[in-house]
Amino acid sequence: MATRRKFLQFIPVAGVAVVAACSKKEEAPAAPAEAAPAPAAEAAPAAAPEAAAPAAPAEALTETDAQAVSLGFVLEAAKADKTKFPTYAEGQKCSGCALYAGAADAATAPCGLFGGKLVPGAGWCSAFAAKPAA
Ligand code: SF4
Repeated sequence: MATRRKFLQFIPVAGVAVVAACSKKEEAPAAPAEAAPAPAAEAAPAAAPEAAAPAAPAEALTETDAQAVSLGFVLEAAKADKTKFPTYAEGQKCSGCALYAGAADAATAPCGLFGGKLVPGAGWCSAFAAKPAA
């Protein structure tokens, strides 16, 4: 009887031991961290952009251009036909015109009225419109 009693007393202790043992297995160390991803294959260097072809220089507006003639365009404002284009006033010139797409001191710049053709800062036409005061 003493043996049986000891056995019965032993069962709860053994059960706890078994549960503990099983729990330890579940607490096994986590799997090693995932291996570092293989380095990505180096991207092939992008093809070097083709050298941009230099933009063709803008065409210069000439006094013989049909539209220029109709608007009294001249390369030098002082030569404006004041009889035919009485709107001309002393001091008016392309560099001071709102359509002159360049710095006021630029020798030439595109003019929006003439499709971006270059006009000299000293030029003039009857469409002159003073740049707004800054
Ligand atoms: S619109 Fe202005 S910038 Fe163009 S040609 Fe005439 S005066 Fe010059």
